[in-house]
Amino acid sequence: MAFENLTERLQGVFKNLRGKRKITENDVLEITKEIRVALLEADVALPVVKKFIRNIRERAIGVEVSEALNPAQQIIKIVNEELTAILGGGEAELLKSPHIPTIIMMVGLQGAGKTTFAGKLAKKLKEEQNARPLMIAGDVYRPAAIDQLKTLGQQLDVPVYDEGVSENPVNIVRNGLKFASEAHNDYVLIDTAGRLEIDDKLMNELKEIKKLANPTEILLVVDAMTGQIAAQVAKTFDEILDISGVIITKLDGDTRGGAALSIREITGKPIKFTGTGEKLTDLEIFYPDRMSSRILGMGDMLTLIERAQANYDQEQQAVLAEKMMDNRFDFGDFIDQLDQVQSMGPMEEIMKMIPGMNEIPGASNIKVDPKDVARKKAMVLSMTQAERQLEVELSPARRRRIAAGSGNSFIEVNKFIKQFSQSKDMMQAVMNGDMSAMMGAMGQ
Ligand code: GDP
Repeated sequence: MAFENLTERLQGVFKNLRGKRKITENDVLEITKEIRVALLEADVALPVVKKFIRNIRERAIGVEVSEALNPAQQIIKIVNEELTAILGGGEAELLKSPHIPTIIMMVGLQGAGKTTFAGKLAKKLKEEQNARPLMIAGDVYRPAAIDQLKTLGQQLDVPVYDEGVSENPVNIVRNGLKFASEAHNDYVLIDTAGRLEIDDKLMNELKEIKKLANPTEILLVVDAMTGQIAAQVAKTFDEILDISGVIITKLDGDTRGGAALSIREITGKPIKFTGTGEKLTDLEIFYPDRMSSRILGMGDMLTLIERAQANYDQEQQAVLAEKMMDNRFDFGDFIDQLDQVQSMGPMEEIMKMIPGMNEIPGASNIKVDPKDVARKKAMVLSMTQAERQLEVELSPARRRRIAAGSGNSFIEVNKFIKQFSQSKDMMQAVMNGDMSAMMGAMGQ
């Protein structure tokens, strides 16, 4: 998958920050140097890297002290925000013309994935908007492209207008548009010819088609695997055709991902979709923030950090920490803790946001049953004050009473008490052991 190396390197950088109570100017310089190398290795264009690093340095030196976020988390937050900005900030939707049809022209080098993308987009429009698209086969220099588009059309039950390879593409587009107007198609997707390299003939032809069709979107399709070349291609196409957006294909492949990071910054044009496979369903809307989180290997850690910030009750946490340290953590505290975690959202959602969670075998199968949490709460609420505060031994008779009071079985009560004492033992072990190791483990 794309970005794997970049993600790994960035995680290495952040790991060194864990447990740090303060981040000095020197630390920031070191970190940004490492991030710079990581980005260059991922084939991100140099001017983009430079700007990115400058922004991070400006923001990271003298970061505000926050109660809920440690310095490492704050740096991650800054890097994430800057990455999101470089990727375009927000989602860029596909434009729609106020009059039918909306005309979308695909351009790009040969093999970038134009024809495949035309099929994917036709499918999406048809299924999600109930649209009636027409595809025009304008790639007359690669005979296979016409057959490929016709096959896609048959598969999707979408009409394809073609005149074989004998006609001039500009005429084909003119006739195709006439055909669409008569058939009342609401979208027209024009598949144009590509070359192995940009040349004047191709560009002139594309300019003519643009003039004739006056498309709502000119989408440049680029292959992520070509790295910096993709960014260069994008710049040239944009200068000549004034494209409206970019599609990055083959992000499923073993690419370094630099193209995605450079293109928006270099062209100023948004990335609208990414291709993540050869199948017609392998099309994703491009969300800069999600892509950034993915590059940082954070799951949705930022959302989690934000929720923690919103729900963080510093005083309560301090009291709990003290109780844990003195081994005074009791059933009542357990419930308070459960409440605080629950206020952050459904447990499974929280688990999914924790980085690395998806790499633990079987972790995705962990189901947190809200009923189970409610059951535990009921058991604690059925305890007397003395029982809750562990002042008396929970004898079988008491356990039976708790079971009856909370509507649970005796076995379930036993199980819960065992679980509680195990987690308490674990807390104690951590507290007696290396406090900083624990803070480090929780630091990211
Ligand atoms: P065109 O010359 O620009 O029309 O390119 P094609 O649409 O023919 O695509 C070239 C090759 O790339 C084909 O083998 C496609 O199946 C493949 N391809 C297109 N998009 C993707 C993608 O997102 N991921 C992968 N893995 N392959 C893709």
